[in-house]
Amino acid sequence: MTEAGGADTAAGATRVVVDLGAIEHNVAAARGLVGPDVEILAVVKADAYGHGAVRAAQACERAGAAALGVALVQEGVELRRAGISLPILIQTLADSGEIDAIIENKLMPTVASLDFARELSRRAEAAGATVDVHADIDTGMGRIGFEPESAVEQIAEVNRLPSLRLDGLYTHFSNSEIEDDPWTLRQLETFREVAKCLAQADVRPPRLHAANSGGVINYPAAHLTLVRPGLMLYGVYPGPGLEEKVALRPAMRFETRIAFLKEIEKGAPLGYGRGFIAPGPMRVATANVGYADGYPWRLSNVASALVRATRAPVVGRVSMDQLLLDVSSVPDVAIGDTITLMGSDGDERISADDLAGWAGTISYEILCGVGKRPASRR
Ligand SMILES: *Cc1c(COP(=O)(O)O)cnc(C)c1O
Repeated sequence: MTEAGGADTAAGATRVVVDLGAIEHNVAAARGLVGPDVEILAVVKADAYGHGAVRAAQACERAGAAALGVALVQEGVELRRAGISLPILIQTLADSGEIDAIIENKLMPTVASLDFARELSRRAEAAGATVDVHADIDTGMGRIGFEPESAVEQIAEVNRLPSLRLDGLYTHFSNSEIEDDPWTLRQLETFREVAKCLAQADVRPPRLHAANSGGVINYPAAHLTLVRPGLMLYGVYPGPGLEEKVALRPAMRFETRIAFLKEIEKGAPLGYGRGFIAPGPMRVATANVGYADGYPWRLSNVASALVRATRAPVVGRVSMDQLLLDVSSVPDVAIGDTITLMGSDGDERISADDLAGWAGTISYEILCGVGKRPASRR
């Protein structure tokens, strides 16, 4: 099921095309790795890594996700407004000013301090509500969470608060994209130990989870009762060399069209800073896409795009809204030709990892950046 723009065929049209069928395929691929009994919480934070949170969340639900994960309360509220009723975990720490929105929208916050948990319980009680919460344990990521040393005592206290229900216990890995990583194994061991001690104290939340995409692919022992994949649901591998373990399908395609074509002479300068000087006569295409659309400035003079299934190097600096391609070797090139910035054309493909490698960043940042101009996503 490809969501293509269809009507928009004007020269220069830049768009992000999201293949919701690929997202469904990738949820099923995660299911294949974790088996039938482990729940999948689909992470759709940051507008589903740039894919559009509502439609991505709906695709994940169709494919059998049991819950959703977002970073911010506001992101959870947007999903509720769109009519999504799955449990929604808020994975960063909410501010006390957001507690009303949590209660009203039946969101599931992360708790990592007793102060916040107490205030949440007090306000839930006043509203006549019970709030499901997940307690986060910092086993070695160093971001948020209860410290393992005091976690048992503090989480037992959270569990006693009258208007909270401890639905889950979780931790987050820092290195799970690497196989057999000793730090990850130690994080898992620490988490299991805390969970065991809590069980001995009669605190047994139904959901235990640790695995992000790397954990899903590389650490079966970390699947526990629920997994939290993000990146892999969008068809991108969290690390190199994982293609043999699971077949994912990229869900995002980023494309535009040739807006302008010209022939230039040897020595002609291109773009800001005269960042490229033609080494000989060339044919150059202009595209209406730039770093404001999430095509990083760092791709200047290093990336390539696909035109008529042929690689066309980016020449000169990427501007805010335009860039230039050397299309000298593209047969029959014409104004209006599709330019594939990320995605496939014929036998050629440019992946999020290719763009990330050229730009000196990670695939996650490429996906989040692309399609930031909201009208561009179809
Ligand atoms: C972002 C995030 C995930 C998903 O991570 P991926 O590497 O994209 O699979 C899972 N859990 C938490 C707490 C996160 O912040």
